[in-house]
Amino acid sequence: MPDRPSLPEHTFGFEKVTAFEKTKKVVSVFERVASRYDIMNDVMSVGIHRLWKDWFVKSLPLKQNGIYLDVAGGTGDIAQLLYERLHHFRLQTQIVVADINPAMIEKGQMRHPHLSWLLSNAEALPLNSNSIDVYTIAFGFRNVTHREKAIEEAYRVLKPGGKFACLEFSQVLPPLQKLYGFYLSHIIPKMGEWIAQDKDAYQYLSESIQTFLSREELLGMMKKVGLERTKCDIFTGGVVALHSGYKL
Ligand code: SAM
Repeated sequence: MPDRPSLPEHTFGFEKVTAFEKTKKVVSVFERVASRYDIMNDVMSVGIHRLWKDWFVKSLPLKQNGIYLDVAGGTGDIAQLLYERLHHFRLQTQIVVADINPAMIEKGQMRHPHLSWLLSNAEALPLNSNSIDVYTIAFGFRNVTHREKAIEEAYRVLKPGGKFACLEFSQVLPPLQKLYGFYLSHIIPKMGEWIAQDKDAYQYLSESIQTFLSREELLGMMKKVGLERTKCDIFTGGVVALHSGYKL
């Protein structure tokens, strides 16, 4: 008997789609923007994404012989910052960048050939259980179709004592809501059109931020899979949030 067609119970920005469509559309977005991804990040955030990423990486534990996994790692920004930091402290470590999109990986490999790259969906990591010391995901979790599965996978691959850290867009504090709402709805898609020649991709970015989980919902999801000592810190008035927890 054929499988029943799946219902549109996921969202791609404001659009209701099936799980299959969501994953396909997300892959297509990042395939289209891969070549202009880095410059767009600088323009859209007026360079502030560098501070967020720096702050994120500095929050991570320094571990001799540690195995670090950066999921949805894109072109490798986080992994490279991590590499520089760990080398600064002369620590022997292994850093793996995983991403679902071959175009983003290709761009990343050209920029950072010394890192290890893995083509993989966050929902099904081809890694052993209890094998990773630090799991990071930056601006990627929002794009994942089955987010519960991705967190379950994070928990599975982490070693006992390992840290989960997720940097993601979040909800701004009330005084900033109007201005930020205008920026997301009107400025971001225009910039996407002018700079990346892809208004739709940046329309998606804007909508995916507006429809993303609240901080409480994300913390709840993390606790549900078993992460402990969970906490959330915000940056730039709530534009981004760092959610973290441990597998104890
Ligand atoms: N972490 C990088 C950074 O901070 O610059 C890249 C973030 S980029 C906004 C989102 C990345 O998530 C893209 O490279 C995309 O291919 C990846 N991605 C989306 N869904 C994914 C999934 N299910 N599994 C793994 N990677 C995924």
